[in-house]
Amino acid sequence: MFSGRPACPECESQQTHVLLRGFPPGPPPPGTTLRGCTIIIVDGSALTQWECGVCGSEW
Ligand SMILES: [Zn+2]
Repeated sequence: MFSGRPACPECESQQTHVLLRGFPPGPPPPGTTLRGCTIIIVDGSALTQWECGVCGSEW
């Protein structure tokens, strides 16, 4: 279920979750973190796309 996902830059775990923005029409698929409708831009960089399921790091 986590195959093909990038490893965590902090702990190298591959239990990486996709960060979903907005509200999908159905329940989020496994391995997905739902973040509601708030769009957060940190230091003007790209949106965070991944969250580590082990240490909680986001990148
Ligand atoms: Zn991690």
